[in-house]
Amino acid sequence: MRVAVFDSKRFDRSTLEAANQLFGHELVFFEERLGAHTAPLAEDFDVVCPFVNDKLDHKTICRLAKLGVKLIALRCAGFNGVDLAAAAEFDIPVTRVPAYSPEAVAEHVFALLLTLSRKTHRAYNRVREGNFLLEGLEGFNIHGKTFGILGSGKIGLATARIARGFGCKVLAYDPYPPKNCDVDCTFLSQAEVMANSDILSLHTPLFESTYHMINASTLATMKPGVVILNTSRGGLIDTKAALAALKSGQIGGLGLDVYEHEEGVFFEDLSDSVLKDDILARLTTFPNVLITSHQGYLTGEALNNIAMTTFQNINDFAAG
Ligand code: NAD
Repeated sequence: MRVAVFDSKRFDRSTLEAANQLFGHELVFFEERLGAHTAPLAEDFDVVCPFVNDKLDHKTICRLAKLGVKLIALRCAGFNGVDLAAAAEFDIPVTRVPAYSPEAVAEHVFALLLTLSRKTHRAYNRVREGNFLLEGLEGFNIHGKTFGILGSGKIGLATARIARGFGCKVLAYDPYPPKNCDVDCTFLSQAEVMANSDILSLHTPLFESTYHMINASTLATMKPGVVILNTSRGGLIDTKAALAALKSGQIGGLGLDVYEHEEGVFFEDLSDSVLKDDILARLTTFPNVLITSHQGYLTGEALNNIAMTTFQNINDFAAG
């Protein structure tokens, strides 16, 4: 099938090409993100292959339908960026890659946590400047801490497994906890997990019901100095509340692989343009904030799994 691959810069092109050797689709790469303005690029394509921050709202999907696009084959797990009702209205199926490497994201949680706990980001910069002093670099042990997981799906449980390996007590909340959980963790209410965790890691999808689940009220119930890690979706945290909690010391460390107002999420309140414009600048004034660029999935193994499943999805569609 003729496949238009969007946002190609954020995904290793050679991995896609190598995986496609098994499938033989005709791939055309566009650096642009897919949205209403770039939809005309999909003319003469059977399939569009968007990535995590592409925005497929009603207008975009209507344009794709007029161009004859038959399938939206996401090369990511989350589908926040796709108006599924519009896809159904225009009879365009949507496929995604539900699980490609939960371990990749779970390991990134610990990359963020270990950097924050041992301040290696600061040490790295100092040593490069010839400064070998240790002042201000005292960290904390992860061993023995209470590690809270919100969302015990694939990534949440992979994270819980690693936390157990570090010698943490693991608490978890999920409205649909796994029936046979193979990880040694205690399931409690969301409020109990929030109130008792030294380290809190977010693994719930972004729904309207989970939007800003970390806010001024819930932060006030947490242990002073709590370390919060978000590799899930930026909208789970009310950034304004987080900034205030960082200032007061209520949040002792914040590790973000995702942040509010990344493109492609529909129901976030974008009216606060000040926050939108300088959100990263304001967060990065705190030395105990670490931000990465939505790269939790970015391992060779995960990329290969994503590419293989995406092309398999296209094959399955073509086969009916
Ligand atoms: P999953 O579907 O396996 O698990 C999500 C879990 O969250 C489910 O068990 C669900 O019951 C639970 N849940 C739903 N509502 C909840 C609530 N209100 N409170 C607590 N739990 C709730 O998904 P997954 O593969 O583990 O992925 C989790 C999230 O990670 C995705 O939604 C996506 O946003 C994010 N993600 C990020 C990256 C990255 O690169 N940073 C990569 C992949 C996925």
